[in-house]
Amino acid sequence: MSNKTLAIIKPDAVGNNVAGAIIEKIQSAGFKTLAFKLTRITPAIAGQFYAVHKERPFYQDLIDYMTSGPIVPIALEKENAVEEFRKLIGATDPKKADPGTIRALFGTGIEANAIHGSDSDENALREIAFFFSESDLVLING
Ligand code: UDP
Ligand code: MG
Repeated sequence: MSNKTLAIIKPDAVGNNVAGAIIEKIQSAGFKTLAFKLTRITPAIAGQFYAVHKERPFYQDLIDYMTSGPIVPIALEKENAVEEFRKLIGATDPKKADPGTIRALFGTGIEANAIHGSDSDENALREIAFFFSESDLVLING
C-alpha cells in the first residue's frame, strides 16, 4: 500500500477562489502536502493524463475544461492515502457526494467537480510524476 496520492484543484475551484479553502480542508484531514503549485496544462498533457478515458463520451469536454484555466496539483502523503483521499473528496457527481466532502462543498457539476484524486497506488505515482520531480518531494521531507 502506497502512502501518496495526487490531488488537482480543478479550474472551476481555482476560478471560484476556493483553492485556499480546499487546501485547508485537505490539511485539516491529516494529509501532508509534499508539494503544490499553480500551473496550467496543454491539451496534449491533459490527454495523456486522462488517456484511460479516451473512448468515453465526456473525454473531449474534460480535456477542454481541464485546460481552460489554472489548476493546482498537490502531492499528498498519508497512510492509505488513495482511499482516504477519495473518501474526503466524495463521489464524482457533487450532487451524489456525501455532505461535507470537498466535491459536495465546492463542486458545481459532474464535470466541474472541484478536485481530482488518484484512483490507485499505481496511478498515484504515475500522476505525481506528471507534475513533480523526485527532488520536489524529497527536499520537503528532508
Ligand atoms: N467526468 C465528466 N462526466 C462524467 C464522468 C466524469 O465530465 O460522466 C469528468 C469529471 O471531471 C471527473 C473526470 O471526468 O472527475 C474523470 O472521471 P472519473 O470517472 O475518473 O471520475 P473521478 O475519478 O474523478 O471521480
Ligand atoms: Mg478517476
